Amino acid sequence: MWPREREALLAKGLGQESDFGALYVDEEGDELFRTAVGPRGCVFLREGRGCRLHDTGLKPQVCVVAPRDPEEADEMRDEDMLPCHHAWQYASPG
Ligand code: SF4
Repeated sequence: MWPREREALLAKGLGQESDFGALYVDEEGDELFRTAVGPRGCVFLREGRGCRLHDTGLKPQVCVVAPRDPEEADEMRDEDMLPCHHAWQYASPG
């Protein structure tokens, strides 16, 4: 997530420092944070299912716009960018 998104979560008390990894720079030169990973995946996962940031208006942009398709989801999962992926439940077609 963007640094400004992390700051907003901290300011609103929706997260704490330990909920985020260290600042890193991606291939495009963007400075970003990843959420910390707990026993179940992303620390923002709800106890049952779903993201506890979903209804706050402060869900990280990357979690809203990506993945755009199952292939991108698999790529992101393989790069440890979707720590909640294992908790996803897909609706069966038809
Ligand atoms: S959508 Fe998933 S990865 Fe993103 S903050 Fe919520 S639980 Fe974490």
